[in-house]
This record gives sequence, C-alpha cells and structure tokens, in this order.
Amino acid sequence: MGDQSLGWKIPERIGRVEELAYNLWWSWHTEARELFRNLNYVLWRIAGHNPVKQLRETSPERLQQLAADSQFLALYDAVMARFDVEVLAEKTWFETQYPGMLKGPVAYFSMEFAIHNSLPIYAGGLGILAGDTCKEAGDIGMPFVAVGFMYPQGYFRQHISPAGEQEEVYRQLDFDEAPIRRVLGSDGSRVLAKVPLGEKTVSLAAWLVKVGRVDLYLLDTDVPDNAPQQQQLSARLYVADPEMRLQQELVLGMGGVRVLRALGIHPAVWHANEGHTAFMTLERVREYVEKGMPFEEAAQKVRLSTIFTTHTPVPAGQDVFEAGLVAEYLSDCFSSLGIDRRECLRLGEVPESEGRWFNMAALALRMSEQRYGVSRVHGAVARRMWHVLWPDIRENDAVPINYITNGIHIPSWIASEMRELYDKYLGVDWLERHDDPSTWKKVLDIPDGELWDARRILRHKLIDGVDELAQKAWANNDVEPHQLVGIGALLHPEVLTVGFVRRFAEYKRPTLLFRDIQRLKQIVRDPFRPVQIVFAGKSHPADHASKELVKRVFSLGMDRDFMGRIAFLEDYDMHMARYLVHGVDVWLNTPRRLHEACGTSGMKAVLNGVLHMSVPDGWWEEGYDGANGWAIGDVVKPATSEEEDRADAESIYRILERDIVPLFYTRDRQGIPHGWVRMVKESIRTLSPRFSTRRMMKEYIECSLGPVCRAQLR
Ligand SMILES: *Cc1c(COP(=O)(O)O)cnc(C)c1O
Repeated sequence: MGDQSLGWKIPERIGRVEELAYNLWWSWHTEARELFRNLNYVLWRIAGHNPVKQLRETSPERLQQLAADSQFLALYDAVMARFDVEVLAEKTWFETQYPGMLKGPVAYFSMEFAIHNSLPIYAGGLGILAGDTCKEAGDIGMPFVAVGFMYPQGYFRQHISPAGEQEEVYRQLDFDEAPIRRVLGSDGSRVLAKVPLGEKTVSLAAWLVKVGRVDLYLLDTDVPDNAPQQQQLSARLYVADPEMRLQQELVLGMGGVRVLRALGIHPAVWHANEGHTAFMTLERVREYVEKGMPFEEAAQKVRLSTIFTTHTPVPAGQDVFEAGLVAEYLSDCFSSLGIDRRECLRLGEVPESEGRWFNMAALALRMSEQRYGVSRVHGAVARRMWHVLWPDIRENDAVPINYITNGIHIPSWIASEMRELYDKYLGVDWLERHDDPSTWKKVLDIPDGELWDARRILRHKLIDGVDELAQKAWANNDVEPHQLVGIGALLHPEVLTVGFVRRFAEYKRPTLLFRDIQRLKQIVRDPFRPVQIVFAGKSHPADHASKELVKRVFSLGMDRDFMGRIAFLEDYDMHMARYLVHGVDVWLNTPRRLHEACGTSGMKAVLNGVLHMSVPDGWWEEGYDGANGWAIGDVVKPATSEEEDRADAESIYRILERDIVPLFYTRDRQGIPHGWVRMVKESIRTLSPRFSTRRMMKEYIECSLGPVCRAQLR
C-alpha cells in the first residue's frame, strides 16, 4: 500500500520514471509533464494528471514499446538529466552563496500544503504559500524539511445544488494512487512517535512526499494502535469541532518535532507557518527542560531558533481555544516544562481575553525571535494588533514584528504560452534570473501581436474548459437546463473577461460588483463592447453568511438581463486556478481595507499578462504604481463599511466604463489593442520580479536566517 514498487513492469531503460512520478518536481517542469503526457495521453487525462495513478494503470506492453521509442527516450534522457542537476547535484545556489550558514535544515511546519492537485491537502492561500515555499527552497538548494498532515479526506469539494446551495463533498483519497510513500522507523515499524493527548496517547505514522530537493513529512494518526476516534484525527483539514482541532494542532506541533527526531533530522532553524503550528515550540522547550535546563533558559534557546509568520490580520480570524480545554490537554506538559498551569496558559494569553482564551498566534509570537507579517500593510496591522503583548513599548512601529511580502513560485504558475514568449524575448535563462528586475525590461521587446495572440489563446482555453465542465455537468445529470447558463455555457471567448476568484468570505465582498445592478447590466450588455464575469470560490462549511453570497452570485448568473455573461464555476481548486489566472483579462480583488494579509492569486495573474484591479490592500498596496493596473478607491479606509462599499463600487464601475472597456476594445486593423498590451507589459515588467517566492526566500535568508544563525553562534 502506498509504496508497492512498480519496478517489475517498468523496463530498465526507462526505470526512473517511477522516481520521477513520486517527486512532484515534475509538476513545475514542462518537459517532465510532456513526458507523462506522451506516456499515455488518455490515461494522463483520466488519472487527473497524476503520474503515480497513471503508471499503475499503464500496461507493461505500453512501457516496453516506449522503452524502444527513440523520441520518447530522447525526452526521457533530457528530463532525467535535468532532474539530476536540479534535485540530486550537490552544489546548489544556497551552498555557494552561504556556505556553512546552516548547521541543519530549516524545519517548516504548516497545517496545509498545496503542491499539486493529486495531493488535495490544502484549503487555500495558506497552503499555496506553503507549497510554493517548499518548491522554491528546493530550487535554490536551501536545506529544508517540511511537516504537515496527510488528510485522506482533505478539504471538501464544492457542489452547488440547483437552488444555489453549496454542498460539501468529502472524498476518500486512495493512498496507493497518491505521490506519497510510507516512512518506516529504524526498527521497521510504521509508528514513529507517540504524543500524549490528555489522558490518552496517540501513535503517529508519517508519509513522505518528495518536492524537488525538499522532503515533506505528512503525519497520519490512522494506525491500528490508535482508538477509532484518534484514527480520525488526521482525516480532515480545518474541522469545526474545537477540541478536535486542538488535538490536531497538538499532534502537528509536538508530534512533528518527535517524528523529525525519530528520523534523525536535526533542524537548525524552525519556521512556524501561522499559529496552528505553535505547539512545536513547547515540545522543543520540553526537550531542553528534560535535560535539566530551567524553563526560562530553555524558552530563550527555542526563541533564538524560531521564525514565525502570521497571516491573519483580523482578531476574528485568530486560532483560539478555551483556556480550560488547553489546560486539560497540556496538564501533562506543565510538569515536564517545569512550569505551573498559570504560567503555561499565560504563554497563549492576550490581555483582553482575561484568561479565558488561549491564542495560538500569541504563543507563537512569545516563543519566536523573528516575527513576520506577509506584506507591508499587514506588518503594520500586525504591529498594531499585537502591541498588547509588548506593553512597555510606546510606539506601534517599534513592536518587534517585521514583514516579508509573499510571492509565488513562478515555474508553477506560468502558462506554457507565456513561458515560450519569455524564452524567446527575455533570454532562454530568464527563469534562472527571474527575481532580477533587469531580466524583465525585455518584455517591452515582445511584439504586441505576439503577446496579444498568447493572451487570446489563453482566454480561449479558459472558455473551452468552462464549456467542457458545463457539458459534463449536463451529461451527468448534475444540472437543470437553465443552470447551464449560470455555470458559463454562454460565455464567449472574445469577450473581455473579468475574474473574481477567491474564497467567498464577507470581507472579500464577492457581491460588491452587484451593488448597482442596473449599472452593471449596462456594462455587461453593451452590444459592441460587452463584458463577462467569471466567479469561483468556496465558502467555509460553517460560514452561513458567505454561503448566501455564493447563492446570490449563482442566481444572478441566471438572470436573463445579464445575457449569460455572469458565471459561477463550482469547486475552485489549484487546477481550476491555473486556467483562471491564465485566461481572464482582468483579476478583480475587493477586500475590505486592512483585511487582506497579502493575497497571491493576483500575482499569478499578472505573471501571465492579466491586469490587476484591486483595492490597494495586501500586496497591491506595494505593487500598484499608477500605470501597471488599477487601484479601486483610495488607500485610506473610509469611516464606515457602508461608505467603503459605496465608494469602492462607484470606483469599480468608473474604472470599467472609462478605462478598462475602452482600452480593451480599441483595436488596430489587425484587431490588436495596443494600449491594452502596453499596460500588460508594464504590469509584467514591474511586478513579476518582485512578487516571486525567490525574492521572498532571499529576504527570509537575509533578514531572518542570517540573524538567527549568527545569534546561535554567539
Ligand atoms: C493562489 C490561490 C489562492 C490564494 O488566493 P488569494 O485570494 O490571493 O488569497 C487560493 N486558492 C487557490 C486554489 C489558489 O491557487
């Protein structure tokens, strides 16, 4: 199970395809994807672009045939040669630049990881960031090991009922078909570590995912040693039940450290991605205390090697537990930490909660030396929000929380049409220099016609994809006839396409665009210069207000006055995200000010020549320069939400009417909108180098790893 070798049926000449299938490195390399596509195109599609599943189902005869096919062999040899250089070679960029800096790997803990759709263990932006971070760490060759959960049911799949209600579907993942391998301890057993959970003890197994050079260990509680309830602990991501959630976080934090120890991995630096992971700090304190160190000294040692990144700009989004519940679960821990109940609970206390709550971000902030927000504005918001933890500091700005703006892993998010253009005009090695702004100056050399052709092809691919989904839904008897309109059957591949694609949450204001329905109808229905709008996104299962927003958008899509130009696509995931960030013309983002920590989907869009229209919050507050997209409303937050909605809706309509629509539809005799293309180039040129995970990782190295490592030497 999960690690049955396929070696018996793979001819030796192409024997390493199995190694390749089990390393998600393939997913961000065009030639490697090409290799699997050529292996058997039909199976590739049926397997949902999952080479492990595909290889299982490929016949031995087909593999024999390929092992004698010179064209296939040439591709195979080229891919494996590249794999050897990028994944196996000893000399890396990091080792060259910072020889000896790290005495061990960076251990990166996260509740979710989005690496590829074949491993559905993510919910959204946080997971995408964690996945992109692993890929980049491997690309630059930084010693890095990641820890998360293997959820067989992951997050849910979204289905919209004929009445527009979101239904959540949980599917069981077949571990045999996932790109994961069982990890065995030195004694050959599956159980690698045990963690006390209240009265009980939970046994932990782990799965290994290869992400280029990076090893990602996913914890699993579904082992025979555990009681049924504990086996279910790792079944799903973000369960609503607080007690189960607390148990998961204890398992991730404490269990994660223990599993790494059991595997003989000794990290030099520990990175907590969001508060969910903060219990890892307590486990490390416990290790020192066990060796006889006093609590405060141990805590200080742990702080010196801990980096924490917070992603939550609003108090309501914090991960908090009832203090009493935490005390129950940690009771064992107090004594082994050498502190009492009160002192322990104080680690997660926020003054205004008066001892009732245990706040995971507060724990992480207290137990780390390096603390970061994820954009310039978010850094400032975090300093204000957490000022209470530093009562002796007078100024907000002096609160010791810095920021490093998030980025995206460029090879993962670029469309092949755009990559080919960049190969041709930026120089074949542009990908290696992609965080250097001067690399992107040459975008101006791309002929307008070629860039426009690529943009058109990508829009056509998106609309074709939407048609295919509608057709499938129809054939599967999943939709009523009139719903076909609402899921995009009438979208047109030459119409200016705006995308609103993100989690449906009240603060993101997915229905802001409909504030003045008549005005929107006029914009959409223009007979010569029409506009269409594609929506996609899930609501949290327990967030009923946001489910109403899904319903509203879904039903407006079927209003005949919109002429079939408003569509809602169900079950937004990483795969759909690619089509959308490649294929729309304008990426719309309307969070309430100071509520978007960073956002990354817009970065994926601009990399592919999509123009960004957003409230100047999160990354856009840094990225927007007046000529590379559009800012909705003002940076300054209006006094009330009502005023903010009114001003922003007005701003969106005005930008659409006066700027976007005319710019898009003003064409030359060949049909090329030169003004539009000029702006696309400006957007790519100024934004792509800055909002990449490469730039982000280099900042983490310079700002945090450097100081952390120096502090450890002292
Ligand atoms: C990029 C991405 C996100 C992040 O979106 P934001 O709205 O920018 O936070 C979420 N989900 C998926 C599937 C993504 O690809």
